[in-house]
This record gives sequence, C-alpha cells and structure tokens, in this order.
Amino acid sequence: MKSAEIRQKFLQFFESKGHAIVPSSSLVPANDPTLLFTNSGMVQFKDVFLGNEVRPYKRATSSQRSVRAGGKHNDLENVGYTARHHTFFEMLGNFSFGDYFKRDAIHYAWELLTTVYKLPKEKLWVTVYQEDDEAYGIWQNEIGVPAERIIRIGDNKGARYASDNFWQMADTGPCGPCSEIFYDHGPGIWGGPPGSPEEDGDRYIEIWNLVFMQFDRDAAGTLTPLPKPCVDTGMGLERIAAVLQHVHSNYEIDLFQNLIKAAARETGCTDLANNSLKVIADHIRACSFLIVDGVIPGNEGRGYVLRRIIRRALRHGYKLGQTKPFFYRIVKDLVAEMGEAYPELAKAETRVEQVLRQEEERFGETLEHGMKILDGALAAVEPGAELDGETLFNLYDTYGFPVDLTADICRERNVEVDMAGFETAMTRQREQARAAGKFKMAAGLSYDGAKTVFEGYTHLAAQGKVTALYVDGASVPRVEAG
Ligand code: ATP
Ligand code: MG
Ligand code: MG
Ligand code: MG
Repeated sequence: MKSAEIRQKFLQFFESKGHAIVPSSSLVPANDPTLLFTNSGMVQFKDVFLGNEVRPYKRATSSQRSVRAGGKHNDLENVGYTARHHTFFEMLGNFSFGDYFKRDAIHYAWELLTTVYKLPKEKLWVTVYQEDDEAYGIWQNEIGVPAERIIRIGDNKGARYASDNFWQMADTGPCGPCSEIFYDHGPGIWGGPPGSPEEDGDRYIEIWNLVFMQFDRDAAGTLTPLPKPCVDTGMGLERIAAVLQHVHSNYEIDLFQNLIKAAARETGCTDLANNSLKVIADHIRACSFLIVDGVIPGNEGRGYVLRRIIRRALRHGYKLGQTKPFFYRIVKDLVAEMGEAYPELAKAETRVEQVLRQEEERFGETLEHGMKILDGALAAVEPGAELDGETLFNLYDTYGFPVDLTADICRERNVEVDMAGFETAMTRQREQARAAGKFKMAAGLSYDGAKTVFEGYTHLAAQGKVTALYVDGASVPRVEAG
C-alpha cells in the first residue's frame, strides 16, 4: 500500500466514523509564540481542547505536517541514527472534543489497524499508563490483547527514547494518560519491548499514541477531572507505511526511496544505503516545507533552526564529495512525491528552490574551508576525548558551522565537544561587543539574501566599522551606531 493510499484510508476510516476531515495547518503555529513548530496533530486544536474555541464539529481527523527539530520535541539528532525518526513527518490523527473517549478511541484504532490495514494482531503490543486500569481492561477484555503484550508504563523520564505514558500540554492545564501501540518488526533487529531496558532499539517501534485528556492540572499539581474528556491521537504516516510495505526502516518506504535516489543522483553517490543520503532525503522535506510555510534561513528562532537543517544536509552532500549546490535540485523530486497531497508545496516550488540555492551558495563559501580546519583539529583529538571550545567557536563564528553541526561530525568520529568552552567563548565575544559601545543593525543590511549581507560586511569592514557581533559566519553583521 503506497503512502498516499495509507493516508487516504486513515482519513476515510475516521470520516466513516463521523469525523470531519480537517486540512493540515501550517508548520508555523498560529497564535502560539511558545511553540517553535507544529509538532503534532493536536496543535491546531489546542484552543478547542482548552474550551476557548468552538468548532462546528466534535470529531476531527487530519494528516498534519509536523516538524520535530527544536524546542520540546527535537529529533534532529536522531535522524540518520534510528530507523524511525524524521525532522519532518506526517502525523495522522483523530480527535474528540468532549465527544467519545477511551473506549471508542481504542476500538477505532484497533479496527483500523487490524481490519483496514490488516496488521497481524500478534505483532502488536500496547502500553498503558501504570494507573490506568480502565484502558488496561479495555485492551485485555474487549479487544483481547493477551496480558503479556500489555505493558504498564509510568512517567519514565530516564532513558533517551523511553516511553512516557502521561501526556501534558504544559505544566498546567489539560493532561492525561496515554496508551501507545507498538509493532514488533521481529527477531534479528536489536531492541526490546516498551518499558524494557532495550527499548531504545528499533525492533519494537511505536506507531500510534492515543492520548486521553482527562484532567486539568493546577499550579499546585492537583488533578481535577475535566467535565468533558477529550481524545487526541497521533500515528506517524512513515512508520505505519514501513509496516504495511513490509520494510523495517521508514527510509525504505516508497516515498523515501525516490528521494534517496534523487539525493544519490545529485551527489553522485552510488551506494543507496549510504546514511548521508537518508539524512539529505529527510532534510529536503523539512527544509522545503518550512520555506513553504514562510520560514527563511536566519540567525534566530525558527530561521536558525531551518539554517541548521539546511547546513547539515549540505555537509552530508560534502561528505559524499559534492562541493557544488545540489540540495535545491531535489525540490522537484519532492514536489513529484508530495505535491499532490500538498498543493501549497507544488505552488511554492520555485521559491523554495531559490531560497535553498541562495543558502547553499552562501554556506558553500565557508563549508570547505571550515571542514579543513575541523579535520585538522580532529586529527589531534583521540577518540573519546573532547574537541575544544575555541575551535567550536571559531567554526561557528567564522565559518557558519552551527555548533550542533560540528557536534554531529564529532559524533561520527566518536569525539565529544566542549560545550562549556564554547559558551565561554560566546560570552567573551558578547562582552567585548557590548564594551565596544552601542550597536545597531547596519542600515540597508536588513535580511534580503546572502549576497547583500556579505557585500555589506565586506564594504563595512573596509571602513573599519564592523564589530564581531555576528552569531555565525554568514549572519547579518552589526555595525557601530553612527
Ligand atoms: P518515539 O518514542 O519513537 O520518539 P514519540 O513517543 O516521541 O515517538 P509521539 O509524541 O507519541 O512520539 O507522537 C505520536 C506518533 O508520531 C508516534 O507514535 C510516531 O508514530 C510518530 N512520530 C513521533 N516522532 C516522530 C518522528 N520524529 N519521525 C516520524 N514519526 C514520528
Ligand atoms: Mg520522540
Ligand atoms: Mg515514544
Ligand atoms: Mg509516543
């Protein structure tokens, strides 16, 4: 079953159960400055759950474009390392706003998985919150999942990927237990069932999270039952596609295979299993959709996250031997793959290409040089030891290497990074800049693309007015007032 069909079947199934099909909202959350990016299907319904907004429906379903590359959920570091994490993914969801609750949510999920998608029941494992006897009872007695495949999970804050079955929107407000469904990809793949010490592996993969919003938590931590409990669920399209296409990794599904081939074509890499191709295929989706939704590479906030993702992709291209702009050339392949489901992507194709190309040209000026410096520095570091903070800072400041980019390269070579040293260098720079007096953004150098900024910098440097207050090698420099 192709990804497009899986998405369609999900929406149709919930439509047949009285849900309104609601289009995906933007990756930039409307009216929510606290959230960097839309990271799940519930984001566009936040006010409905809180009771501050009323919609003409009580049940909704959506396929929500989501990014987890910053803020509370950050999977950027997992990309290229696990079979199941992306920076950008699609979250299929069904929602009840004070209408049905736990029982129906569980029955719907099971029906869809086992009768529409026809998954073998014995490969499905479920988790419930440790105190949630009600959910446990539904799974065991009504659905018939054997006790050995129902696992109680607490607020597990320990292990890197460990399940945490109590969900909350924020420190106060709606919250409740959740119940998750896992698929066992079978022996031969490292990993243990949810809740076990080996859960970090990729054998048992979480496919669907059912959240039961049941309480209101006050500032003192007291839980009061909500008058109308709600349901919020999320299933990663790419993960369920992997299961339905009988492959283990998300990167082996139809949609990704074509992007990986495109990345191979543009970088000249002939080994389709190369990890860098996966990273590039992942990142072209996140970067393109962020640009579609109005984010522009920059030095702060959302723009800086976008810049970091682009630069990671470019570094992986460089690793494969590509030193020329290539990333923007994959946009057309992405449009071929996803333009039908997301017409806004198809419409923005040229703009996305332009923005990416500009950023590639800009970083291309410093990437190669920076890599030589880094390689030189790394040659002197023993595996397991640390790369010093001054080098991290120099790469950041002069060559536009976001510190997480350098850290990622170090991780590949089993080298740690001295973050404290980096912070010290940053602080020193800030203080020097402050001591130098009053600053303002260079007139006429407001962001409108790489070239302007670089020309402006050179021009002002010639006049001796530029201070070193820029936060990365390709950022907007600030100049002394007057
Ligand atoms: P994991 O434990 O594997 O990191 P999660 O518990 O963080 O997943 P949820 O926040 O419960 O994920 O999100 C709901 C669903 O969205 C998950 O069950 C999964 O199918 C999907 N999902 C979450 N994060 C990602 C990601 N980075 N890439 C692809 N799919 C994801
Ligand atoms: Mg996660
Ligand atoms: Mg999880
Ligand atoms: Mg989860």
